[in-house]
Amino acid sequence: MGSERYIQKLNSFPTPFYFYDMELLRRTLDVVTSEAGKYGFSVHYAVKANFNGRILAEVNKYGLGTDCVSGGEVKRSIECGIPASKIVFAGVAKSDEEIRYSLEKEIFSFNSESRDELEVINRIAGEMGKKATIALRINPDVDPKTHKNISTGKAENKFGISYTEIEEVIDELPYLKNIDIIGIHFHIGSQIRDLSVFEKLCERVNTLQDWFIGKGFDLKHINVGGGLGINYDDPQGEPIPDFKAYFKIFSDNLKLKEGQTLHFELGRAIVGQCGELITRVLYTKINGEGTKIVLVDAGMTDLIRPALYQAKHRIKNLTSESTRTENYMVAGPICESTDVFTKSVELPETFRNDLLTMESAGAYGRCMSMGYNLRDLPKEYFSNEL
Ligand SMILES: *Cc1c(COP(=O)(O)O)cnc(C)c1O
Repeated sequence: MGSERYIQKLNSFPTPFYFYDMELLRRTLDVVTSEAGKYGFSVHYAVKANFNGRILAEVNKYGLGTDCVSGGEVKRSIECGIPASKIVFAGVAKSDEEIRYSLEKEIFSFNSESRDELEVINRIAGEMGKKATIALRINPDVDPKTHKNISTGKAENKFGISYTEIEEVIDELPYLKNIDIIGIHFHIGSQIRDLSVFEKLCERVNTLQDWFIGKGFDLKHINVGGGLGINYDDPQGEPIPDFKAYFKIFSDNLKLKEGQTLHFELGRAIVGQCGELITRVLYTKINGEGTKIVLVDAGMTDLIRPALYQAKHRIKNLTSESTRTENYMVAGPICESTDVFTKSVELPETFRNDLLTMESAGAYGRCMSMGYNLRDLPKEYFSNEL
């Protein structure tokens, strides 16, 4: 989104690269902060969606905290000015070094995912003479109705403490003197477009927190994770997700107790629409079935979502002046059959050197890029710095 306004400039940069519409990012952050602010909700930006320092600095300006899934992300957050008191650290398998570093920085809380991990955090905190603040990540067994590869809160998934183990974990807690349980945490999946899924999550949270309180826990914080999806089919029609409806669902359905704070960890919904992958056409040809193929200089190494999740990004030709359209397969240069962005898209007649954009690539785009085939990682440009 936004690249149309800068075509001339963008056409002069070496491709492929990511382009970010910083005005859209700000408008999105405006809506997030005002809608969450209505209810006093606390929002942490999920750094893994896009760890670029300029994006993080913008997020920090709006007062959001961060949700990290590695020591590297905790470090990046701190370097970008996010106060440690607003950083949460989830992650299904945290290393000793990551735990030590986060304790040293005194982050707000660890979202802990297993009994083993609690024991390790307890031991390391003891060695450091610290007390670790912890939210227990519970696997609530809620179907997020999204792609199976981005579902995290079903019983079959590796994430969180399962119902079958909760009792065992709780029995152990009195022996873990260097940890302080301050709340419970959930994150059921990503690209969730059916908002009724979040109602279901609220029901589970209500039941679970009553159970915890019945066991004598004082839960000051409830963290419901992230997962709100974006509109990949029509980014222009819906550049900003419906945060109003999203936060209202939690306000209406989650029974917060006196003095509790509700936390969110949103990644894709905040940065997804503001980024695009810009690429240049290298060649066109026709395969044995008569399909016209456009070969571009970006590949799955730059944007892996189509290969990994069968994701569809809207593709546009930014420079073609043809009034005729054709149906094309758009594929990259990588030596893998899955390196195809789409098998079928209607584009104006497309030729070598045309500039194409793949929209809605701000989340899980550049941060997942890799050097396979010994390729350079794509550069990033920002609308406010052109
Ligand atoms: C990935 C992740 C998020 C963010 O997910 P989005 O779908 O990008 O909102 C939030 N919390 C945790 C624990 C995560 O792993």
